[in-house]
Amino acid sequence: MLKIENITVEYHGKEILKNIDLEIEKGTIHALLGPNAAGKSTLAKVIMGFPQYKVTSGTIYFEGKDITHYSMEERVKLGITMIFQDPPAIKNVKLKELLGKISKVPIDELLGKIKLNNMVEELLDREVNVNFSGGEKKLSELLQVLSLKPKFLILDELDSGLDLVNLRKITFLIKDEFLNSETSLLIITHRGEILHFLEPHVAHVMVDGEIVCSGDWRYVWKVITTEGYEKCRECRGRIPLFAKRSSSEHSSS
Ligand code: ADP
Ligand code: MG
Repeated sequence: MLKIENITVEYHGKEILKNIDLEIEKGTIHALLGPNAAGKSTLAKVIMGFPQYKVTSGTIYFEGKDITHYSMEERVKLGITMIFQDPPAIKNVKLKELLGKISKVPIDELLGKIKLNNMVEELLDREVNVNFSGGEKKLSELLQVLSLKPKFLILDELDSGLDLVNLRKITFLIKDEFLNSETSLLIITHRGEILHFLEPHVAHVMVDGEIVCSGDWRYVWKVITTEGYEKCRECRGRIPLFAKRSSSEHSSS
């Protein structure tokens, strides 16, 4: 579904990502782990097509098409979308007005999917992300991406600003909603809980703008928590990659 071939990325002349290779199949979950400032959010934004990041070499393919030079709007139309780590506030636009414009799903149906508590309905009448708490921003983002029915979704630190109970509810909702529709997920995280909830098929570790290791998330997480991210450099190529799980496994897990 998404294939990144050897891309290098600069921001104002500074190299942020180096020789990144990444392939994410339809209906699979990949996790991207790494210390602060490793380049994780940059990779997410490069996949989305943020114009300030310059892809100086390499190619990004989506469903076999070279999208390296596609605009963000074209990528969203193809089905690529993202939940931002820190989404911007949009003054004078209520969340329900925004959803009314973008949603491919009737709003009632959307709300039915995300009935966590009354919080969601109250948010609809407020300006998008204006003075929202961390958790409210994540709910607002989740509603927006659910409304777009994406084929490929990036979650950039969904776990920041969410308490464990809401994180659990939201991740299970994501699992139900997106995996049943064969959406692929790229989860960017520092924390272990979301890995336990979503059980990614593959975990990648990014250090200093490079993917230094890819493999089974349990093993990768154990190395990170006991020996640190740098140790992951030594694992390169030695961790078995699990094959894509069947859809029956998704629904039973
Ligand atoms: P992560 O998400 O892994 O914490 P980022 O991708 O946000 O890391 O950042 C990687 C590096 O690139 C950092 O050194 C950061 O300061 C720099 N960087 C990324 N985007 C920008 C930007 N828009 N302006 C200035 N520096 C940036
Ligand atoms: Mg980040």
